[in-house]
Amino acid sequence: MTHHYCVVGNPIAHSKSPLIHGLFAAHCGIDLEYGRAELPLDGFREAFTRLLQEQYRGCNVTAPFKGEVVPLCRQISDRARLAQAVNTVIRLPDGSLRGDNTDGVGLVTDLSRNLQHRLQDKRILIAGAGGAARGILPSLLESRPAQVVISNRTHARAEQLAAALSAYGPLAARPYTELDSRFDLIINATSASFGSDVPPVPGHCIDGDTVCYDLVYSDEPTAFLRWCESRGAGALHDGLGMLVEQAAESFYLWEGVRPDNSAAIIQQLRNTAP
Ligand code: NDP
Repeated sequence: MTHHYCVVGNPIAHSKSPLIHGLFAAHCGIDLEYGRAELPLDGFREAFTRLLQEQYRGCNVTAPFKGEVVPLCRQISDRARLAQAVNTVIRLPDGSLRGDNTDGVGLVTDLSRNLQHRLQDKRILIAGAGGAARGILPSLLESRPAQVVISNRTHARAEQLAAALSAYGPLAARPYTELDSRFDLIINATSASFGSDVPPVPGHCIDGDTVCYDLVYSDEPTAFLRWCESRGAGALHDGLGMLVEQAAESFYLWEGVRPDNSAAIIQQLRNTAP
């Protein structure tokens, strides 16, 4: 019997998730159909509930609905609760929903396994304090870094985020202007790249050993990665690998099989025109 899934968001036409899950399913020999559903900004809750009553065994959730799905789930994983955001929904046998969040695992898997960057004992800067920053923090803190600093344009949001999660690891909020030393890893979790802006990370935070990672992915290097390169960063990565690895974790949660073809899919997506 075909297993049906979809990704919900608004807009959603750009999503690569149907392609990625189709490739996982073919590789694992699972009969699966994965679609896209653009749900309305007004009336999301009703539309989402109706959709999940259809044939779907689960769905992925993307912007701007990750937070809105949290109260609709009867069960919620620890990492989704800490993130206050759900990107993976599993429909349980009784029809109720379980929410999880695989974004953080996706990022950490991409950094540590695909890109071979060690996170333990490293100093990490996260630029941005929105949903994506919150989603990745629990998994980053589990990797036992020496320190994670959050800087955000609206400093109060960084402070709130640090206060909410500081029980789980060495986490602090600092205004960009007060960052006075280098980092081993800088993660751009802002949406600034969409507007070709670069978060105001001081240049002295980067040296030749700094790894720079933009959660945004695109065919061309993002403005943030171009700026990091101009500062002499040691390695530059966009968020395509995170996208594929968070999908692999969702697939595992739904199907109980962990696809082992993520690296090939990342390569295939890089070689494919949009
Ligand atoms: P949010 O809207 O929740 O947060 C946006 C963040 O960016 C806020 O911290 C905001 O600061 C900051 N920001 C926006 N514009 C600027 C700017 N010009 N200069 C400095 N800071 C700015 O978005 P999300 O957290 O949900 O998403 C962030 C990015 O992560 C998106 O680009 C998204 O596509 C990407 N992402 C990638 C994933 C992947 O799989 N690769 C998964 C999830 C997200 P302020 O608080 O001051 O407004």
